[in-house]
Amino acid sequence: MSETISVKGSIDKVCQETDCGEKMADLTSEQKALFKNFTYCPYCAEEMTLICNRCHEQLNSADYKFCPWCGARFSD
Ligand SMILES: [Zn+2]
Ligand SMILES: [Zn+2]
Repeated sequence: MSETISVKGSIDKVCQETDCGEKMADLTSEQKALFKNFTYCPYCAEEMTLICNRCHEQLNSADYKFCPWCGARFSD
């Protein structure tokens, strides 16, 4: 690879339920940051899912440095 992908993304933790997604869309960024520590959804108790906030594909690990789907760089 001769070029480094410089697009920045971040890892979001979301609930796949549509209703919960709508509730979470109204949260402040501070509240959203708190959600990253949650294992289960506080609204429906489903297990939370890690996604790339750029391509919205599911991720298997919060330790990823890059999105395996769109190549976005996750910086903290
Ligand atoms: Zn939920
Ligand atoms: Zn991505």
